[in-house]
Amino acid sequence: MSDEVIQQTKLWLGEHYNEGNGRSEFADKLKEECGVLGIFNVPDASTLSYYALHALQHRGEESAGICTVDTKEKNRFCYYRGLGLVKEVFDKEKLAELKGDRAIGHVRYPSSGEEDAASNIQPLIFRYRDGDLAVATNGSIINAGEIRTELEQQGSIFQTTSDTEVIAHLIARSSADFETAAKEALARLNGGFAVLIMTNDKLLAATDRHGFRPLVLGKVGSGFVFSSETCAFETIGATYVRDITPGELLILSDNELREERFAEAERQAMCAMEYIYFARPDSDINGINIHSARKRMGRMLAKESFVDADIVTGVPDSSISAAIGYAEQTGIPYELGLIKNKYTGRTFIQPSQQLREQGVKMKLSAVRKVVEGKRVVMIDDSIVRGTTSLRIVNLLREAGAIEVHVRITSPPFQNPCFYGIDTPERKDLIAARMTVEQIRREINADSLQFLTHQGCLDAVGSNEEVRNRGLCMACFDNDYPTEQQNEQMVTSNSK
Ligand code: SF4
Repeated sequence: MSDEVIQQTKLWLGEHYNEGNGRSEFADKLKEECGVLGIFNVPDASTLSYYALHALQHRGEESAGICTVDTKEKNRFCYYRGLGLVKEVFDKEKLAELKGDRAIGHVRYPSSGEEDAASNIQPLIFRYRDGDLAVATNGSIINAGEIRTELEQQGSIFQTTSDTEVIAHLIARSSADFETAAKEALARLNGGFAVLIMTNDKLLAATDRHGFRPLVLGKVGSGFVFSSETCAFETIGATYVRDITPGELLILSDNELREERFAEAERQAMCAMEYIYFARPDSDINGINIHSARKRMGRMLAKESFVDADIVTGVPDSSISAAIGYAEQTGIPYELGLIKNKYTGRTFIQPSQQLREQGVKMKLSAVRKVVEGKRVVMIDDSIVRGTTSLRIVNLLREAGAIEVHVRITSPPFQNPCFYGIDTPERKDLIAARMTVEQIRREINADSLQFLTHQGCLDAVGSNEEVRNRGLCMACFDNDYPTEQQNEQMVTSNSK
């Protein structure tokens, strides 16, 4: 234990103590904003979408939607969307009404401060002069506000507050044919996004020109599938074909796949947090398996910041792989010191202050028999505001851990994201305000170390030839891949 006396462990009595309200109970954990899914020419596309969206549920737990094209009924659109988890929104009867062999689906987190979550549930559906249009996106369109103002001045009436709606308006207002209009619309967008656009006879898939957000193509039977992550492919028996590259536009029509571009690729910048935290361990992004990358992060962390201890444990679920890597590298046994209750789901019955004082915990528990009397290395993926880390360290102390050494599989998170991840302002990011030692005190840990920038890049192990190994690390290194955001941050830093 460090010389300094660790403050007496107290029960956490503040807000959001393990309440189990989806992921939002960890109020300072980052939130992915969406998962997208597209099916083309596969029978019973809605049921397949339902299962695939289940696999993408971790990317958005607030709402879900599926839109199908009924090719036997004049290619009409059928859709259903609702607030809640995929299993709460859909049942057998609803899926049976979504007829057809083409579909796009979506799971979503609302961004912070969003008031009208219900009208922003995707896919967004529109009717315009050439037929129906469904649009689903993952990510953020930075210049959506600007485009929206311009279009409103020209008479457009928006139905939602979603960035995604500008894509539909740009297409609908164009006098060009649909494909040209879609390309021109996508070319106007700045930001980090993966998008699916479905019409009565086509399905388009694209990612932004930096490739911030993942999107993959697979084959299922004689048809095709697009998904935010490959984990959905296993679920529905699809085989992986390839990742969509930055600035690329894939067009499915009849059963033909065309590979086109809407923009030249710029500096490749896949979001590093996908590898660190967001993506499911069984997914691969750009050929790299997430579980393996996280294990390497744990190994690297052990090399960079070894600490003698009795057990290593990981904060479930995202840090289990890294904890295994840390244990393998150090020889310190990996133990299940923390358990997540997977069945809390969304609950609106929160423990009262009195119940909290009695130690009622719903979402995460420490395993007393495992941690009691032990020196524990606790591996986590990131520290955003610091409140979650304090809570988890205290959980371990309450269960009898005699030392808690925190190791983080990413560098200090110091800058906000503009590319689709809902992050607090810089002033609320603990690493932007405090030194590592100050953070250690704040989270009540005996020691604290972060993975270095280089260690993180090496652990992911992507292409060495390109800058930052083709990753965006802006929230760690302030090097925003888009010029405008770089300038914006330089200006705000100099104020
Ligand atoms: S700023 Fe961070 S969270 Fe945002 S895209 Fe880049 S790496 Fe991902």
